[in-house]
Amino acid sequence: MGFGQKVESAGVSRLVMKFGGTSVADLERIRRVGRLVAAEVAEGKQVAVVVSAMSGKTNELVAWTDGAGPAAQGIDPSDDEYDTVVASGEQVTAGLLAMTLRNMGLKARSFLGWQVPIITDEAHGKARIDEIPAENLEKAFAAGEIAVIAGFQGVTRDGRISTLGRGGSDTSAVALAAAVGGACDIYTDVDGVYTTDPRIEQKARKLAKISYEEMLEMASLGAKVLQTRSVELAMAQHVPLRVLSSFVEPGEAPGQGTVVCDEEEIVEKRIVSGVAYSRDEAKVTLYGLPDHPGVSSAIFSRLADANVNVDMIVQSHAKSVNAANMEFTVGKRDAERAMQIVKQAQAEIGFEDAAVDDNVAKVSVIGVGMRSHAGVAKTMFSALAEKGVNIQVISTSEIKISVLIAAEYTELAVRALHAAYGLDKL
Ligand code: ADP
Ligand code: ASP
Ligand code: MG
Repeated sequence: MGFGQKVESAGVSRLVMKFGGTSVADLERIRRVGRLVAAEVAEGKQVAVVVSAMSGKTNELVAWTDGAGPAAQGIDPSDDEYDTVVASGEQVTAGLLAMTLRNMGLKARSFLGWQVPIITDEAHGKARIDEIPAENLEKAFAAGEIAVIAGFQGVTRDGRISTLGRGGSDTSAVALAAAVGGACDIYTDVDGVYTTDPRIEQKARKLAKISYEEMLEMASLGAKVLQTRSVELAMAQHVPLRVLSSFVEPGEAPGQGTVVCDEEEIVEKRIVSGVAYSRDEAKVTLYGLPDHPGVSSAIFSRLADANVNVDMIVQSHAKSVNAANMEFTVGKRDAERAMQIVKQAQAEIGFEDAAVDDNVAKVSVIGVGMRSHAGVAKTMFSALAEKGVNIQVISTSEIKISVLIAAEYTELAVRALHAAYGLDKL
């Protein structure tokens, strides 16, 4: 991946500030964003700003594309026009913020993805950034201009508009920070990264620091405060990353926010740092599978060919007969397609029956301290048992344990685990 030349600009520090949907939800909030930006400029920094669409706007645009309907029979399905539609929300806020900054007496101009350009691959709807040539931004910096960049969008090499997946403005911001050699501040509607979603557990505590690795797990396991790809990129490109609230006036809350940093920079070690949850799960069960080599490969290669991401997998052997049952999870949006694919292969693979359940949720505990501490799983399982929550599937990695449970227990499970690891007393 190429992110342009890192420019060492003698003594001038560079900052990319990103404002999410609720932070630019109306003109009053956009004016407050303007004041936050002006304060950084006044400190002598070279500033670029990334904005999301006004809150609710992207959902509305997505609903319109759904309303236009899926590709008719015989027509190739493609998300390129979906991208043209959903990218439009960010165009509005980029223009409005640039106008607001000008009205405050600052030099500013908007940039759409193609004007930067933010060059992506062709995976419309979930594109990845390939390259950001920094020349145009350098020109803006040199002219003392604040570049206000539409988040979430890019351009393919053949000139089509692309988008980076939901929550993608975080990734735009980190990638731009990497491209210009700056730090990245993500302004949002909470004042940092918490031990769990503060909307679900009021006792959630703000973390002053969190390691890139833990943040990456938290994000990929459902904590939507940062898009997963943005954390991956910050970690790989060593971008200093901070999450903080846009609902304050400049200077009002010094030291607020959460710094995402290397593990070594965190003095206070915790065993578990957070609890995350995702309701975007569906479980597929295959009953009566033949118990011989090649069966899993036959199933999962078909799913992979169709671009269906599989997450948790368990296989259990029936006691008496030479057969097995298998359960695996996929994203809710992929559930129907996954069922179609396995059913089409039923005769060939030779299983008896298949079922899908999308009334499930995944709850996970995350912490680098798990590497060196025993008993983390035991605490999780007994806390859930005490609340009568049945565990359907378990998966673990070095720094996380995830369980699949019935969706109606999500909040109960999150709160029980938050308490069980003492996170409300941090
Ligand atoms: P933005 O529109 O600014 O990008 P998002 O809605 O994408 O904001 O992300 C912020 C939200 O993430 C918060 O309002 C909060 O409900 C949710 N969230 C989930 N898990 C966490 C967590 N561990 N810490 C902080 N916020 C979290
Ligand atoms: N507006 C886009 C979304 O709602 C991108 C973002 O907010 O990060 O997903
Ligand atoms: Mg977001």
